[in-house]
Amino acid sequence: MKRTLITLLAVFPALLVTAQEKTYPEPERMTPGMTEFWTPQPKVVTPGDIITNSAPSDAIVLFDGKNLDAWVSGRGGEAGWTVHDGVVTVNKRSGDIVTKESFGSFQLHIEWCVPVNITGESQARGNSGVYLQDKYEIQILDCFQNETYANGQTGSVYKQVIPLANAMRKPGEWNVYDIIYSAPVFNEDGTYRLPPYVTVIQNGIVLLNHFEIRGTTEYIGHPKVAPHGDGPIRLQSHGDRSEPISFRNIWLRKM
Ligand code: MG
Repeated sequence: MKRTLITLLAVFPALLVTAQEKTYPEPERMTPGMTEFWTPQPKVVTPGDIITNSAPSDAIVLFDGKNLDAWVSGRGGEAGWTVHDGVVTVNKRSGDIVTKESFGSFQLHIEWCVPVNITGESQARGNSGVYLQDKYEIQILDCFQNETYANGQTGSVYKQVIPLANAMRKPGEWNVYDIIYSAPVFNEDGTYRLPPYVTVIQNGIVLLNHFEIRGTTEYIGHPKVAPHGDGPIRLQSHGDRSEPISFRNIWLRKM
């Protein structure tokens, strides 16, 4: 029997990988560092002129500079971020905000700005994020001359992939995200029949090209896959001590 198995593994080494994956349980106590990869760092690309679009005719406008009527607090109740001068700024005391409406597949446009007086380093510097269907975080971080683990940079599906480039503008300048997302379809056993995919463009530069999302974006441990339907867009209030970032011109087109 043993000899047969060895022969099989020699002929089909893929069996060994499968066997290993199935027999290694997740460590009971993982630490954040176990899922952080620092190399290779994405190459720095200086973006061209800013591309900012007002909403097209069939878009759902999520923020037009006037109010947060399309949003609620992630903790329930009114969205508590601060609307001023046509932008909305994170209020750390009030936590995340989420859209009232839920979405399947979509195209999302969102602009964000790291304040010029930003402080902190690595993940504690202008950290926010856009959660797709309330599950999958596309990282927002001040990655302008701020080293952090590569799979936690701006444009990563947090801790799942290293972006193709670092297209950050300086603090005080506006960044533009265009995110194209296709929602997953689930099997009866809760696994993905069709996984979620995402394309992320920052300032006209592709950071992710039809990336297959592996599951939820966890700070500690591996991605998790659990069935879900449509979900809202969530914007993260990270809670670190750096100055809060601002957003403007947020719209979405259903696909
Ligand atoms: Mg974040």
